[in-house]
Amino acid sequence: MKLLELENLYVDFIQKDRKLQAVRGVSLGIDREGESLGIVGESGSGKSVTSLGMMQLIPQPPGRVLIDQLRYMGTDLTKLSKSQKRAFRGSRMSMIFQDPMTSLDPVFRIGSQMAEAIVLHRRISSRRALGCAQEILEKVEIPNAAETLRRYPHELSGGMRQRVMIAMALSCNPKILIADEPTTALDVTVQAQVLQLVKDLQRQIGMALVMITHDLAVIAETADRVIVMYGGRILEQGPVEKIFDAPAHPYTQALLKSIPDITRPRDKPLNAIEGASPNAADPPPGCPFHPRCPRAVDHCRTEFPPSTPVRTDHTAWCWRLEA
Ligand code: ADP
Ligand code: MG
Repeated sequence: MKLLELENLYVDFIQKDRKLQAVRGVSLGIDREGESLGIVGESGSGKSVTSLGMMQLIPQPPGRVLIDQLRYMGTDLTKLSKSQKRAFRGSRMSMIFQDPMTSLDPVFRIGSQMAEAIVLHRRISSRRALGCAQEILEKVEIPNAAETLRRYPHELSGGMRQRVMIAMALSCNPKILIADEPTTALDVTVQAQVLQLVKDLQRQIGMALVMITHDLAVIAETADRVIVMYGGRILEQGPVEKIFDAPAHPYTQALLKSIPDITRPRDKPLNAIEGASPNAADPPPGCPFHPRCPRAVDHCRTEFPPSTPVRTDHTAWCWRLEA
């Protein structure tokens, strides 16, 4: 039985005069604990909305969510009551975001925020929860954990705040951790440290990791399997090494070519993909990548392709795969 199964997630956002189609039929699965799934795609491709959809955290309205299946170890998560959903999020599946300040309350000390979150999910006293909080801060390698408990969020560096967020997400031993661009706001050195920490913790705890990023380098560092998103759809998925060595979809091929190469001569321009990404309020018919695709033909402009196997465990959604 799969740990998590999501089938056909559709999310629209209804605004006054228009409808934004944020996610259009995304399916994904996590087979087991310990697995690392990467979701990559440029800004606006629907990565965050997909993860919020998995967490059942999209407010309706303005959101409108359709899901064929969302199961955890066979249990239908869409059928849980509001409080069961909340309890599930705290215990089995948790999430960390790009900006810790959106989740940390500036007026409370780190210790009381962490303890409050722990008390919510475990029946222990606040004093014991504070002890747990200190232990978890030590686990995420925060120096002077006891002192950090007494600090306010703004007194910590960005990297330390993100470590606190990771600690809070781990405080109830989740089986699945969704990390949505957890290092994007950090500078490069701190980014590498935080990624390393997430990887180490995943190995220690054995949880599954869903790493969401626009950065292929982060995927290369953290994921076993990767899903490539564009215009609210999945265009390709497969084992990381196959996607990097032999990408099948023209979009993935273009994305890989656009990675800044440190060996590139200074006068040679960066190979960014030509054209604009699709507008969610008015997505192109057919394959969302066709307006920018060098291989597009008429068929691509009218109908989104079915999934096509490329190699074992490797699938692409494209009418024009090269044989
Ligand atoms: P990504 O995380 O890949 O950058 P998102 O999942 O955040 O992209 O967004 C996908 C699309 O949904 C975008 O067009 C975005 O503007 C839209 N969107 C996301 N959240 C909301 C919201 N709360 N209300 C309206 N539109 C939204
Ligand atoms: Mg996002």
